[in-house]
Amino acid sequence: MKTVYLLGAGASIGNTHGKFPGIDTIFRTAKDLNILSETTKKVLPQFDDLSKYVKTIMKKNVLMKSEKINIETLMTYIDLELEASNDNSYYYDLKAKLNKIIRDVIIKSSEAYLSDNEYCEYKMLSDTLSKEDTIVTYNWDTMLDDILGRKYLINDIFNHDSYGKEKFRDNQYYNFLYDISAIALMTRGHISIDLPYRDYVNKKGYFLKQHGSIDWYYCSNKDCRAYGAIFPMDEHTTEGYFCSECHTKLEVLIVPPILNKRIRTFPTLNRIWNLSAQEISNCQRLVIWGYSFPPTDFYSKWLISKNSNSIKDLIIINPNLIRNTKKNIFRNSIFFNNIKSVLPIVNINTSYYEYFEDFINHNDINHKYGQVIF
Ligand SMILES: [Zn+2]
Repeated sequence: MKTVYLLGAGASIGNTHGKFPGIDTIFRTAKDLNILSETTKKVLPQFDDLSKYVKTIMKKNVLMKSEKINIETLMTYIDLELEASNDNSYYYDLKAKLNKIIRDVIIKSSEAYLSDNEYCEYKMLSDTLSKEDTIVTYNWDTMLDDILGRKYLINDIFNHDSYGKEKFRDNQYYNFLYDISAIALMTRGHISIDLPYRDYVNKKGYFLKQHGSIDWYYCSNKDCRAYGAIFPMDEHTTEGYFCSECHTKLEVLIVPPILNKRIRTFPTLNRIWNLSAQEISNCQRLVIWGYSFPPTDFYSKWLISKNSNSIKDLIIINPNLIRNTKKNIFRNSIFFNNIKSVLPIVNINTSYYEYFEDFINHNDINHKYGQVIF
């Protein structure tokens, strides 16, 4: 039985007990970690332009603690500028700086968390995975990748060391690395899917990051042989990485959900989306953890809605499922209606959990609170 785990931002936040930054607290966290400024009043000179741009386009101050600056909206604005302007080197530079802030915040936040926490929800997920299960995630961080052996497996490729390769062989990250990333181009095993295609059943499980990852680098030179391929890197250098084919500086591949249509322009992301659709439509059980069905996320909702009709079991894990007042616990009807508009919950066996740990312990919301909420 194949299970697909679909993870939204809430999964990484849950994994760190709420410490990981959300989509509108990246700047606040950057300030707290001294990434953005050294004093409370002034941003570092290299982020001056970006700070001014945020002020102009979003009417917000990047150093103000109370300001919620939605990073996806900002990324979308910069992308629109790039589309609209003839001389786009200025906005290219803004984009690179914003990406750097996002990466540094995510790297520092996950390091701070991992150093004092051995056991976490992502470890629980990794322990419960079967070989054929697939993970589809919208998150850019590498906390789950690391639990699935990211560093060991990448290191093995460069150092021909076989420790990680044996320990993590055929797990979801391994299959991503050897079948989907640029590593796959070096093998002869990917010439064609066995025919006939209509009978194609995927017995492998994959790790599919739909919006890219802070450790994925790609060559943006369309004339280069390596164009569009993804190179996962285990370390983050300040100098960056350069394409071994054409020597262009490699870029980090992270895409905000609002720009999902851009995914078609990145061949590997396109492939990841097609494979995700295939995996969701062929699984018996779909677990949706920490995904909030945001109104602007049309592509993801379309992907789920279109492919989830043959699922037998559906599991939703999200603390936003309920509202907990001191007197009462009740269903969060706005969130529930969002789910209902995307998934055929009346026709399938659906269960609801507040946290991932509850799911592992078979403690659904009705059971947990001793009343029928769903
Ligand atoms: Zn290149």
